[in-house]
Amino acid sequence: MIYDIFIIGGGINGCGIARDASGRGLKICLAEMDDLASGTSSASTKLIHGGLRYLKYFDFKLVKEALKERDVLLKIMPHICWPMRFLIPLESFRINNFFIRCGLFIYDYIAGYSTLTKTKSINLQNSILNSFVKSKFKKAFIYSDCWVEDSRLVVLNAVDAKEMGANILTRTKVINFTKKGSLWSVTTKNKNGEIHEHFCKCIVNASGPWVENINQHFSLKGPYSTRLIKGSHLVVDKLFDHNHAFFLTGQDGRIIFVIPFQEEFSLIGTTEVVHQNIEIKPKCSDEETNYLLNFINSYFSFNLKKDQIISTFSGVRPLYNKKNQHNENISSITRDYVLNLEYIGHLPFLTIYGGKLTTFRKLSENVLSKLKDFFPEMGHDWTMKKPLPGGDFLVNEKKEVINKLQKNYPYLGQKCAKRFINYYGTLSYQILKNVKSKKDLGKNFGHSLTEIEVDWLLKNEFANSADDILWRRTKLGLKFNKSQKNKLKKWIESRI
Ligand SMILES: Cc1cc2nc3c(=O)[nH]c(=O)nc-3n(C[C@H](O)[C@H](O)[C@H](O)COP(=O)(O)OP(=O)(O)OC[C@H]3O[C@@H](n4cnc5c(N)ncnc54)[C@H](O)[C@@H]3O)c2cc1C
Repeated sequence: MIYDIFIIGGGINGCGIARDASGRGLKICLAEMDDLASGTSSASTKLIHGGLRYLKYFDFKLVKEALKERDVLLKIMPHICWPMRFLIPLESFRINNFFIRCGLFIYDYIAGYSTLTKTKSINLQNSILNSFVKSKFKKAFIYSDCWVEDSRLVVLNAVDAKEMGANILTRTKVINFTKKGSLWSVTTKNKNGEIHEHFCKCIVNASGPWVENINQHFSLKGPYSTRLIKGSHLVVDKLFDHNHAFFLTGQDGRIIFVIPFQEEFSLIGTTEVVHQNIEIKPKCSDEETNYLLNFINSYFSFNLKKDQIISTFSGVRPLYNKKNQHNENISSITRDYVLNLEYIGHLPFLTIYGGKLTTFRKLSENVLSKLKDFFPEMGHDWTMKKPLPGGDFLVNEKKEVINKLQKNYPYLGQKCAKRFINYYGTLSYQILKNVKSKKDLGKNFGHSLTEIEVDWLLKNEFANSADDILWRRTKLGLKFNKSQKNKLKKWIESRI
């Protein structure tokens, strides 16, 4: 088979493009060297946001595109994306408060017509939201953005792309590509060490932080480069009994979020540290841990300690830079993306630099629009209206959808029914289609993960290992103990 496009990288950008292009009738192959979303796309802060702080750098184009995307994404993926309110605690009589208010006004204004609740200010002293906020913070602004289950976003794009004919290869590394006659020849090596050659008309390099390594390896010289910036998060037991997130500004001007996470936890992040070598797996350092703990302890009356940390994770942002431009202030480097289309002979090779989860859908559309001359027969933009698999309901119907699932499957329990809808949406009915009683759910691995769900993930969502399931298809890894993990691992090994 000759593919129209071969995509390198199964993060959000690669999978988003695979879905969009397949829906336009193009023949697509995507290779991911590890698991889907195993790179940056499972290590983000998981916000679909305009990026309030980018206003400080006058990045209006990016903020506008991202704000518009919030409403589009809420409509097409109400299962894995939902609105969240963010609290900005303020000290009295600070000039900065005025600038924050102006920023929020602009934020709401640029968003235009939006279903999200607009900014308001509250007096913290009379509010239930003040639990643990230090008394010097008298007032707060509350604004809206959205949450997203980042790795599930990637997987659902890949699932839909496959449904429309794409060939999605996981644990398959691109080790070479070269021009052969009128086509590209792409060589891959899979986890069993098997080497395959694939032919295609166009290559898209969507390998995120690896883009430069790949392009350099193949002597491609675009006008852009990437700066690799590590960001780390801490996960602790839920800190507050409300579902608002906090947007906190430090003395150094950095922003740290504290966000309700997976019902029982709080997520704290993120740092920004230069990461020299992408071949070294990013890890949260002691310095970053201390920084994050000190930061949030300066806002709240509790004293969060290292031994309360349940888990940490780190990812690398591939921020794009013009070549030879060296920006000392990392926070000020744009989070926007650039698409660089080169022709090797007459064969197109497109590289993606930078980006955000929030703008993946628009980025995918822009990639295909850049390739329009090369594939004049392809279909039109379509992803704005079509829900991702399982997302065929309205975001304000979520409660009803959860209650209905629980009513149909009472033995799931309320918590598990909510988890199912937040992960799978209406696909839950396909997962549970042969379940008539609790017994039919099969073996229980703990924390409501049963055989029927694991089987579904192995067969339908490209999962291959316990880690794929515990960290990228679900986040149950936060709750599983060592013995539960081992049992799941052994069981999976016996199935594949
Ligand atoms: C700490 C942090 C917080 C963030 N928070 C947010 C946020 O809240 N909201 C937001 O919108 N954005 C956020 N982002 C940005 C967002 O996460 C990234 O822009 C996005 O995930 C990048 O996706 P990607 O597909 O380009 O890269 P990746 O997800 O890294 O995917 C690239 C893939 O390519 C694969 N690959 C590499 N080389 C090869 C090869 N030779 N063959 C095959 N496969 C290969 C890798 O294994 C990897 O899976 C955050 C980023 C970080 C680091």
